[in-house]
Amino acid sequence: MILLDGRAIAAELRAETRAQVAARLAAGRRAPALAVVLAGDDPASHLYVRNKVKACREVGIRSLEHRLPADVTQGRLLALVAELNANPEVDGILVQLPLPPGCDAREVVAAIAPHKDVDGFHPLNAGRLALGWPSVVPCTPAGCLHLIERVHPDLAGLQAVVVGRSPVVGRPMASLLIARSATVTVAHSRTRDLPRLCREADILVVAAGRPELVRGDWIRQGATVIDVGINRVTGPDGQARLVGDVAFAEAAQVAGALTPVPGGVGPLTVAFLLRNTLQAAG
Ligand code: NAD
Repeated sequence: MILLDGRAIAAELRAETRAQVAARLAAGRRAPALAVVLAGDDPASHLYVRNKVKACREVGIRSLEHRLPADVTQGRLLALVAELNANPEVDGILVQLPLPPGCDAREVVAAIAPHKDVDGFHPLNAGRLALGWPSVVPCTPAGCLHLIERVHPDLAGLQAVVVGRSPVVGRPMASLLIARSATVTVAHSRTRDLPRLCREADILVVAAGRPELVRGDWIRQGATVIDVGINRVTGPDGQARLVGDVAFAEAAQVAGALTPVPGGVGPLTVAFLLRNTLQAAG
């Protein structure tokens, strides 16, 4: 079984980005800049933003943090996005989701200038991706595809099952796999007989947010399994730990390639955010 070591693979990608940023600077251009908007006090969001800002610093991307209180108004958020859109010193804009209650995330995301939308969540970018046009690709599915292509450089004709249909992971993942000529089935909470469907997959991507949903006997012998889930659970010893959407020890007995949680898809997500920011800088 190939253990897809996301930390090591992401470190390679970050080193490439760092070299490209250094080449820009050597050519007399300014460092790429990412504006990060964090509203409210969701602890997970704070942790994600900390990681993203640190990763920017390590490759030479400037990050500009905008922290707003949990009672921020929609108008204030939209005004900030408009200001960042107009600022020529800002290449990428990331609005960390979820937004506090009372804010409309769709409206805020749609207000971001599409060429600064490094998350790839703007409807224009999402639509382009769905059409198979060149677009900004959301970071998590881009990371999953990178891992999959390490194992299968050619996906044509392979059977792929994506569990989850969210705009952040499942849907863009399906579009990326279709564009690589895989045969794709998207499963979700209303899918009948999920275990049987999963067993048909050469490539199984699981993004359901359900701890250890996928068991070993749902997996075809030799399949490539990408576990996107990040779930905080309390173990029998009372200790909190992170688990994925796949029962790792069981899956490791049957899968041909498998991502761990943590240390699988997560680091790739951050590495692709840096890539998207560099790309937005032109
Ligand atoms: P979401 O809640 O928006 O979507 C979950 C999807 O899973 C839905 O489409 C739902 O229909 C489906 N689903 C739920 N229960 C199911 C079940 N029992 N059977 C089949 N399908 C089911 O979540 P999301 O934003 O797509 O994230 C999914 C998971 O991935 C979460 O655990 C999240 O924390 C994680 N995540 C990780 C990264 C990363 O960088 N590693 C990035 C984004 C999300």
